[in-house]
Amino acid sequence: TNPVFTGIDTTVFETMSRLAMAHKAVNLGQGFPDVDGPEDIRQKAAQALVDGPNQYPPMLGLPELRQAVAAANKRFYDLDIDAGSEVIVTSGATEALADCIFALVSPGDEVVLIEPLYDCYLPLVRQAGGVPVRVRVTPPDWSLNEAALRDAFSEKTKAILINNPMNPTAKVFSDEELQLVADLCKEHDAYAICDEVYEHLVFDGAVHRPLMAFDGMRERTLRIGSAGKTFSLTGWKVGYITGPAPLIDPIAKAHQWVTFTTPPNLQKAVAFGLGKDDAYFEGLVRDLSEKRDRMARGLSDLGFSVLPCAATYFLTCDVSNLGLGATDVEVCETLVKRAGVAAVPVSAFYGSEAPTGFIRFCFCKRDAVIDEALMRLRTFL
Ligand code: PMP
Ligand code: GLN
Repeated sequence: TNPVFTGIDTTVFETMSRLAMAHKAVNLGQGFPDVDGPEDIRQKAAQALVDGPNQYPPMLGLPELRQAVAAANKRFYDLDIDAGSEVIVTSGATEALADCIFALVSPGDEVVLIEPLYDCYLPLVRQAGGVPVRVRVTPPDWSLNEAALRDAFSEKTKAILINNPMNPTAKVFSDEELQLVADLCKEHDAYAICDEVYEHLVFDGAVHRPLMAFDGMRERTLRIGSAGKTFSLTGWKVGYITGPAPLIDPIAKAHQWVTFTTPPNLQKAVAFGLGKDDAYFEGLVRDLSEKRDRMARGLSDLGFSVLPCAATYFLTCDVSNLGLGATDVEVCETLVKRAGVAAVPVSAFYGSEAPTGFIRFCFCKRDAVIDEALMRLRTFL
């Protein structure tokens, strides 16, 4: 019934990027910035490539990057992390997620997932033989229902996988919600796998609070970060996991069979990047929040109903009353083919029975690109 999004083997991001290219559309689908990250970081990578060594780095990651990750945990969250036993470097957060799930989840184990969910979560949990148990956050504020979350935990729960700040909803979980997650994890002796790739992309003076920092969570939490998001270098695929040594150990076993290592020059450059001063991190937030505002204003002026956006690269809109199609998928098809603007249908972030009234725009683009997209939408509408 769905001519575009039928494949289970192609992600919605790839599908939309291909459609965007085919229709010469402004691509506000897949989440990536259209300018590269800091030049000094890229220069470090280039220099390290020339200087070498370019052979396999240590399986757990270059010591200097593991130390930089530990230091960043202290600097931003006051977490005391032992670089030698509590950090592992991976080829992107995607690999980090796969390693954590393959290491911790055995056939029959239940994994609580919060829906809408980032698209690799369900296939990874299923591939490990795990049983996904989905709990929804509901628009427009994407709040988490306590009773529903409580119901999702059982004696079979091995872990909860939580994305905070959250793609695609741009939600930052409140302290109360995180406390509830922490309490349930402790009650059910479950792990928390925390996908925190957007940790540094939080707007309006809000601060990111890692679940790992909550009482009693240090020994049961795996915290995943990504240089792709923190330094606007999504093509590098450098990720890192922080967690207690007894969990990093089995994760390293999974990692050795997945990628084994990550390019050494990129690791060196990311280690340098994590040491950048506060002005860098503040500038990133300022730039992105200005883009969010530009995009949100423009979309609202065109009649889109824009939902709140506290973090990430993404704005979601309720398009159910725009008359552009019966479902989000149809609306995105119309927009990419006829307006020349690619967005992503939010239903792609659900396992089943998805709401079909929401689409996601990526706003981490040059102002001229945002303006061009808005102009095309205006012309079409
Ligand atoms: N988790 C979330 C929530 C994401 O949005 C993304 C994609 N950007 C990833 C993980 C994957 O990150 P990476 O590119 O480092 O693999
Ligand atoms: N995380 C990006 C997004 O949500 C996509 C990454 C990918 O294409 N796998 O758009």
